[in-house]
Amino acid sequence: MREPDAVMISLDEALRRLDGVASPLRLQTETLPVRASLGRILRAPTHARLALPPFDKSAVDGYALPDGGREMDEYRLLETVHAGETGTQPLLPGTTVKVMTGAPVPAGTERVLMVEHAQETDGRVRLTRSVGGANVCRLGENLIPGDLVAEAGRTISPLDLGNLIAAGITEVEVSRPLRIAVLSTGNEITDDPAALGRGRIMDSNGPMLSALATAHRMVVTLTRRIPDEPGATRETIATALAAADLVVLSGGVSEGDSDFVTPALRALGLAPLFTRVAVKPGKPVTLAADGSHLVLALPGNPVSAWLMFHLFAIRIAAHLLGAPIEPRTFRLKLATPFTRRNAERQEYVPACLDESARCSPVPYHGSAHLGALTGTDGFFVVPIGVTMLPAGTKVRFLPLGSTESVP
Ligand code: AMP
Ligand code: MG
Repeated sequence: MREPDAVMISLDEALRRLDGVASPLRLQTETLPVRASLGRILRAPTHARLALPPFDKSAVDGYALPDGGREMDEYRLLETVHAGETGTQPLLPGTTVKVMTGAPVPAGTERVLMVEHAQETDGRVRLTRSVGGANVCRLGENLIPGDLVAEAGRTISPLDLGNLIAAGITEVEVSRPLRIAVLSTGNEITDDPAALGRGRIMDSNGPMLSALATAHRMVVTLTRRIPDEPGATRETIATALAAADLVVLSGGVSEGDSDFVTPALRALGLAPLFTRVAVKPGKPVTLAADGSHLVLALPGNPVSAWLMFHLFAIRIAAHLLGAPIEPRTFRLKLATPFTRRNAERQEYVPACLDESARCSPVPYHGSAHLGALTGTDGFFVVPIGVTMLPAGTKVRFLPLGSTESVP
């Protein structure tokens, strides 16, 4: 169904409109135990409760030697302190306390002599080599209470878990999970290989987009296939809106006779912010909003769906979750020349990087050729108006690895 007045806008303008509509829709926060917060987005800067280390502690197994005075050849051993214990004896001139790694050193310790550099016999400790540094980690040398441990917007990583828990933080304020529905449109698609006949294909976009959403830590609350039929399209989108913050569709947004998505969005009171973007692949990508939900309708061709999910859906998720909106491109040199005939859209060309970080296009038959992306490192960008790029030209490179990590 041809959309009336479908104006094509630039990708930058589309992203600006996306930013404007998505940023006010930030999700509410919830408080979680730190140990259950992996992958969640921190919403408040989080400060240390404890000093690290929380006491002067020994970095080695050794003998604590007292402050000041000349170093002696022999010391009287007062006691042994293991990690987790506290000693009872103050360190006086001429005495030593054996301390294990992680044990508090006695007050008045100047340095800890490693056990390897001493000989202990009958309660006396002789230095065999007077070498080595202080071997004492001083109270608060890594962190003091009030220091920033993790800033708002961080995706909590295993490293953050370690740092937060060590700093005495037990709970964090994070965004609630983003709920996403993934809908695939098309009379030709099925999930049952036995139902494949002439003209039918597997619904690969649905599982792929759901997996991408999961890999980017969204929670998939609904998946459906929709036949090319206006009523079913409307009803399924309405069901999805009740189940999700973001509804992502694939297919049905081109100008064919069976493209019912945009009229269905209008019928449901979702105003499209754009329905045509000057990007290749991905031109019919459509975004609509109703004040509390967003609907992103992607073209059905799998490369378009994959790339547009990265450019649009992940950006929407960052807005809703309170994560940074990263400009993720680099300027790299082209290893080989590139030419094209039509320059009216900004084109993303699947490419590999060589050892010198120069990029070359891979064999690619167009936006249905999803297999071409296997093993690629990302896409280089050909701006609007450009038909020829000689080898050595600096291009913008979008590093979209073909292997997304799975949480
Ligand atoms: P459309 O955007 O609906 O015009 O579809 C464009 C192309 O993508 C057509 O060749 C469709 O058969 C194909 N396609 C649409 N949906 C899917 C899907 N879920 N999985 C794989 N290919 C699809
Ligand atoms: Mg279709």
